[in-house]
Amino acid sequence: MREDNCIFCKIANGDIPSKVLYEDEEFKVILDLGPATKGHALILPKNHYHNLYDLPDETAGKVMLLAKKMTVHMTEKLKCDGFNLVQNNGEAAGQTVFHFHLHLIPRYAEDGQTLGWKPLELSQEELEEIKSIIIG
Ligand code: AMP
Ligand code: ZN
Repeated sequence: MREDNCIFCKIANGDIPSKVLYEDEEFKVILDLGPATKGHALILPKNHYHNLYDLPDETAGKVMLLAKKMTVHMTEKLKCDGFNLVQNNGEAAGQTVFHFHLHLIPRYAEDGQTLGWKPLELSQEELEEIKSIIIG
């Protein structure tokens, strides 16, 4: 299940070279070409899914297990101080490559990166309204 002209399909299936940290039948884990920190990696399913919205449940489960294993292993090897998992869905959320991927970002005490957001100040009423939209 590949999509023509998808760079991550080509990487995941070996048509374009990459720095591979791990590979099995369903996934490849590669180093990101524009890393946030040393060791920034991407988990790519070999099948093409645009993003989380069309990722099968079973694959989603396997991605998180693999992410956990990679996080523990990379933390030990890189001696990093923490770890961010980042996963962007849709252009508005910063997705630039439309083949599902999970960012594995080792963090170091003085790495100078900021992965964050400006917190909104919402009232209890506003929070309640959002809650009822989501669960209603
Ligand atoms: P996102 O913004 O979540 O879609 O992330 C796309 C990521 O893919 C960025 O961090 C890029 O640096 C990375 N990237 C793009 N092209 C390549 C490539 N050929 N090899 C490795 N990483 C890539
Ligand atoms: Zn693809």
